[in-house]
Amino acid sequence: MNIVKIDISKLNVAITNPIRVPLGVINAAHNVVVKIITESGIYGWGEASPFAPITGDSQERNYVTAKELAAMIKGKDALAIEARMGEINASTVGEPSIRSAFDMALYDIAAKAANMPLYRLLGGERREIRTDLTIGIQDTVEETRTQAQQVLDAGFNAIKMKVGRQGLEDVAHVKAVRELAGPNIAIKMDSNQGWDYPTAVANINAMKPLNLQYSEQPLAVWDYDGLARLRDKVDLPICADESIFDDKDALKLIKRGAADYLNIKLGKAGGIHTGLKINAIAEAAGVKCMIGCFAESRLSLSAATHLAIARPNISFIDLDSCYHFKDDPVIGGVTFDDKIGGLLHLPETNGHGAEIDKNTLDNESRITV
Ligand SMILES: [Mg+2]
Repeated sequence: MNIVKIDISKLNVAITNPIRVPLGVINAAHNVVVKIITESGIYGWGEASPFAPITGDSQERNYVTAKELAAMIKGKDALAIEARMGEINASTVGEPSIRSAFDMALYDIAAKAANMPLYRLLGGERREIRTDLTIGIQDTVEETRTQAQQVLDAGFNAIKMKVGRQGLEDVAHVKAVRELAGPNIAIKMDSNQGWDYPTAVANINAMKPLNLQYSEQPLAVWDYDGLARLRDKVDLPICADESIFDDKDALKLIKRGAADYLNIKLGKAGGIHTGLKINAIAEAAGVKCMIGCFAESRLSLSAATHLAIARPNISFIDLDSCYHFKDDPVIGGVTFDDKIGGLLHLPETNGHGAEIDKNTLDNESRITV
């Protein structure tokens, strides 16, 4: 099933509730979408959501690279995902965001060609999953409390708190949320590399009575030894996020005993093809995975939801990026339940089920290869 055409477009969406993390502020989505069209008429959609402080790429770079990748795979078999992703991954070091867009479009095509939803193509059985909702870093404890109350009012049963402030400043914020939420709400914290080793030990020890779920990326991206040392030292599971992009990182982290959990993001892994490998390595080591996101629309979140449903070892769901989008540019795909906070509904549509509403795309940035 040869590829005859690839459309590439920029997609920009404002976010009403910007998320501040130690690495910067996410206040809008500046993404790139691709539509891969085959000779049979079957097409697949993919989305890149670059965040330079983590992924090292940008919308502009992704847009340029997309043209090169499109020219490379045009005329070739869309169903040979192993071969196509092999070419794409070999031709581009870095830029996982745009590699992921091509990957999820190819999986979309494969599932449509098989006449089934993507999670079924991946061998999965339908299961219920619920995402957490993230609270960014707030200036005051009172603001943190207000944000947490909104998450609880929306019916979520899991809160992810961004932390990574100086010294022990985070403790009061996390304590306030635990007091507000009561004992039955899962609370996880993500430092986005904001602590050093002594600060991480001090914070995690001080938060011990708060019954947290895990500490995500407490230390710098490169500090595998620090993560391993911290994991031995404290009584809280450690989850690697920025420290793991692909399957090779997964193997290294596990060999060093540096993480209890691994955070798979399609935009770091370069898509489902490598996401499956990360999960397989983790599962073989008895390590659970979470699935996370950047500033993706429901398009990329739909692909991630199919992967999560298909692999029960992916136990922690953080697919909330579009929750605060000002506009929804997506037709079909995953949706949030309007009563049970964070419950994800995935229609039984072939492929990943999501498409971009063409009217929302910036016409001046649209090109066809
Ligand atoms: Mg994270």
